[in-house]
Amino acid sequence: MTHNAIIDLYSDTQTRPSAGMRQAMATAEVGDEQRGEDPTTRLLEERVAAMLGKEAAVFLPSGTMCNQIAMLVHCRPGDEIIGAETTHLFTSEAGGASALAGAQTWPIRCPRGIFTGADVVAALRDTAGRHNPRSRVVVIEQSVNRGGGAVWKPAEIADVAAAARAHGLSLHMDGARLLNAAVSAGLPAAAMTAEVDTVWLDLTKGLGCPVGALLAGPKPFIAEAWRWKHRLGGAMRQSGVLAAAGHHALDHHVAALADDHANARRLAGWIAAAPGIVVRTDPIETNIVFFEATSPLLTRQLLDGLKAKGVRMGMTYGNMIRAVTHRDVSATEIDRVGAILADIARTLSMGPASMPNVA
Ligand SMILES: *Cc1c(COP(=O)(O)O)cnc(C)c1O
Repeated sequence: MTHNAIIDLYSDTQTRPSAGMRQAMATAEVGDEQRGEDPTTRLLEERVAAMLGKEAAVFLPSGTMCNQIAMLVHCRPGDEIIGAETTHLFTSEAGGASALAGAQTWPIRCPRGIFTGADVVAALRDTAGRHNPRSRVVVIEQSVNRGGGAVWKPAEIADVAAAARAHGLSLHMDGARLLNAAVSAGLPAAAMTAEVDTVWLDLTKGLGCPVGALLAGPKPFIAEAWRWKHRLGGAMRQSGVLAAAGHHALDHHVAALADDHANARRLAGWIAAAPGIVVRTDPIETNIVFFEATSPLLTRQLLDGLKAKGVRMGMTYGNMIRAVTHRDVSATEIDRVGAILADIARTLSMGPASMPNVA
């Protein structure tokens, strides 16, 4: 197997299939998934539906397709989706909700991407007016990516769910990192999903799978989701090879997410100790750490300096650097990153003019 020479904290999507996972994939029982004849995929769908306390689930190529299909089923053109302003569905899916479902968005400004039932009520359109769009669905993200991996507590979800239900709206959970949230809270995933109508989880975020996500909900919803899966070209053939990776991840990689969370806290310790660099994620609940230097320019130089030393992170939101810990970066490597970071920080704090040329 080949390994990256770099330490890649760009995203937990950088996890790669392990030897054991590849073995499981190689020996998977397969059939024609489009026809419902792939036993490994069907078993994974049943397993995830049970795990999330829903009637049914459908295997899809990506989390983005889960969100998009969910909106296509929940909404009619002209409907409105309510969610945090930073939610992936609004910011990072190429405008899919408007391009595909024809829905428009109502972004709620809120700390760490977590809002309340009262926020939902305040965002509702007046149903009396014929000129108003129809508020249709509320989206929450578990954990909140741009909220630094913040975890919605069951009581917070219940509060939003009650408001949505009282006003005839559906509640959808983007559970890209649902299992991180569950492990962090020490709760079964179903405790996080009991109050939501539809939910999906990603197999490619931190779990090591090459492809795949599962969207779960009531049977009629999943039947409708299947129609869109066909329309969008998401129906597969011998997908058991991919589903086997999912089974392997759920069997072997979930508990270890706690190590990723410990590594995120470990990294934050290094960052906090470095001169002129501030951790912006507080508290660190899961595997995401946002931080920055004292100016966007210095932050950019810090990011470039890390890259020059073989450490990859991202800078995509609010001029902050995002580091995401995952199973393919060890505590020892985190300490190496910490030492590199401390080194660069000392140089940076002397001012931009003294920065080494890292181009
Ligand atoms: C990554 C991510 C997605 C999209 O998932 P893909 O599998 O990459 O398509 C959606 N929502 C959140 C919060 C994410 O982090």
